[in-house]
Amino acid sequence: MNFVRLNEILNEHYGNLHWWPAETPEEVVIGAILTQNTSWRNVEKAIENLKKIGIRNLSQIVNGDQEKIREAIKPSGFYNQKTARLISVSRAIQSAGGIDSLRKMDDASLSHFLSSLKGVGKETEESIMIYALGRKKFVVDKYTMRIFSRTGIIQSETILPTELKNEIENRMSLEELNNFHGALVNLGKDFCKTKPVCVQCPVRNECNYAKDFTLP
Ligand code: SF4
Repeated sequence: MNFVRLNEILNEHYGNLHWWPAETPEEVVIGAILTQNTSWRNVEKAIENLKKIGIRNLSQIVNGDQEKIREAIKPSGFYNQKTARLISVSRAIQSAGGIDSLRKMDDASLSHFLSSLKGVGKETEESIMIYALGRKKFVVDKYTMRIFSRTGIIQSETILPTELKNEIENRMSLEELNNFHGALVNLGKDFCKTKPVCVQCPVRNECNYAKDFTLP
């Protein structure tokens, strides 16, 4: 299987997921930090709690009551660390002129700026680039690596060849990249879990893992 075929199957199964689930670009930034090392369900609870205390954007994070923020984001785990990250990243973006100023940066400058922020790794950086700022990035997370490896798109769950990532970003439109990542997250949560549920998975007929280990 290749990524084009996988994307076709996922499109047929999930349709347009309107990924990332956020109301504004600033909410994407907040969600991208909160989702580190936890599931999206926990992030949803944390964001809902933040909204209940009136926090929906980066300025409100910077100027908000730190204790209340810490309490609100508890469902996302690592809440002391994430409170500090939320505040420092929000402050840095505000100091740079806010989301609108980031929008004016070219991809290289934007990547350099985001990657220089403490607590912003590659996945967080690229999530912000595509979902908050509309740049063509293929966000690679643990679900992507697991699914690509099991289906046979890549050989090892730990290495995504740069050429493949570049090819995906070059061949897919922004909209396709948006949805492909969302669909992979959904497939990983619904079927391709640590212990995969291959018999119900939409990819089962073309997946190496299913052919080798589970299906007759
Ligand atoms: S068939 Fe199984 S291993 Fe393959 S993608 Fe689906 S759940 Fe994962």
